[in-house]
Amino acid sequence: MTRYVFITGGVVSSLGKGLASAALAAVLQARGYRVRMRKLDPYLNVDPGTMSPTQHGEVFVTDDGAETDLDLGHYERFTGVPASRADNITTGRIYQDIIAKERRGDYLGATIQVIPHVTNAIKDFVLEGNDAYDFVLVEIGGTVGDIEGLPFFEAIRQLGQELPRGTCCYVHLTLLPYIPSAGELKTKPTQHSVKELRSIGIQPDILLCRCDRDIPADERRKLALFCNVRETAVIEARDVASIYEVPLSYRKAGLDREVLGHFGLEHGQEPDLGRWQTIAERVRNPEGEVSIAIVGKYTGLKDAYKSLTEALTHGGISHRVKVNLEWIEAEVFEREDPAPFLEGLNGILVPGGFGQRGAEGKIRAARFAREKRIPYLGICFGMQMAVIEAARSLAGLPEANSTEFGDTAEPVVGLLTEWLRGNELERRAAAGDLGGTMRLGAYDAKLDPESKIAQIYGTADISERHRHRYEVNMAYRERLEAQGLRFSGVSPDGLLPETVEHVGHPFFIGVQFHPELKSRPFEPHPLFKGFVGAAIEQSRLV
Ligand code: GLN
Repeated sequence: MTRYVFITGGVVSSLGKGLASAALAAVLQARGYRVRMRKLDPYLNVDPGTMSPTQHGEVFVTDDGAETDLDLGHYERFTGVPASRADNITTGRIYQDIIAKERRGDYLGATIQVIPHVTNAIKDFVLEGNDAYDFVLVEIGGTVGDIEGLPFFEAIRQLGQELPRGTCCYVHLTLLPYIPSAGELKTKPTQHSVKELRSIGIQPDILLCRCDRDIPADERRKLALFCNVRETAVIEARDVASIYEVPLSYRKAGLDREVLGHFGLEHGQEPDLGRWQTIAERVRNPEGEVSIAIVGKYTGLKDAYKSLTEALTHGGISHRVKVNLEWIEAEVFEREDPAPFLEGLNGILVPGGFGQRGAEGKIRAARFAREKRIPYLGICFGMQMAVIEAARSLAGLPEANSTEFGDTAEPVVGLLTEWLRGNELERRAAAGDLGGTMRLGAYDAKLDPESKIAQIYGTADISERHRHRYEVNMAYRERLEAQGLRFSGVSPDGLLPETVEHVGHPFFIGVQFHPELKSRPFEPHPLFKGFVGAAIEQSRLV
């Protein structure tokens, strides 16, 4: 039988609902259950693909090419189960489908309304394809009280009545702020948030309370009494040093016991959290450290690079070192010499990005890494900028540029208009839609077996996730290879460059895909393991 856990949030946003859901999933998994995770996003965008990363954080891309919420990244990293298009839905997508049906006449003359049509569509989505799972964890984006969230709350309320008795559990994540002048953790915001939830018909079963200290027995009793939950269902979600400690801390606070107890399931036995203990221990007690510069564009909001920073942490875990990140706005290098910023660092990473702002700064960062022999990892845009750098500095093409920034005499990076997906030819026009039209999702690549990157992967056949509209222009391959920039990986049909590397450099690799999306704490991605390894080597030289 499939059981549903609905996770909602209250009081303030950014409490880490995604992480909380992922950590609960990990603990249930550690008890041998099969867990699926899904996310309902109330905003009106069809998907987050067109949203600025500085507003919404990173866009997480799945193997099947969906641009999804970054919480799906947490889900994958914590459960090891690849997310798919079917795990995330938004109001925009629901309305898009409903309106398409209405235009086709599928509703046979009915008046289309939020209840039942929108709520039914949400319920259908939640219930679809869950047979193989013991638990389905459904996170609702936003906070209770948001107007746009109402149809989603209504849908999960209805499910509580429609699904078999005892198969739904409502978990509400709230904040207990500590007020120094009163010397107390305050329960009132949580009481209000639960009141709001109950006013739309949902009685939470479990309260997951974010706090920075122990919840005293009195406050716990008060919360239970006023929020109408059992005292044991008031679960402390204490701030922890690393996100990989969250499953352990939930276990300690009794979250899994309470969830299983709610469903009448046996919970006497301890879950096997050994691998989480190992990870937490490695993060807590590193044997060294390295410092890596991230020369990017959205450095003001760290969530814009969520998977990236996690992948670097994983790389560190695999070598038992702490990876310190130096965030640098690429634009700074357009005004100032990069040397004082980058000297003394052990690696330079230029991540994915869009648009011209900061591009010249990234090119300067790539040049610095090449000339000073500092390990460099260029991801997507970071590979494209590294190729432009080589074209300008080594291949005698001072006009080299990307057509992403306008017309150019030397289009070393150009618009991708055709490519193969399996046996299908995908086509794009220059003036096409922006949403959902990039080369998205998992594509295979063939690596040159003699290359450094093939050595790092330990194989010549790889599959990685993509999200790009532009591509390094094969017409420049020979001229660049003659200067030592090897096109070490290409698409299986040989038409699209996938990876490049500077021959003879300790570690200078550019990849057209996003390896960070597939890195996991238990299985650090080979490129991040290799990059951090090279940074450790470099740190021995300085
Ligand atoms: N803007 C570049 C492109 O569309 C790079 C994209 C990226 O870094 N994800 O190709």
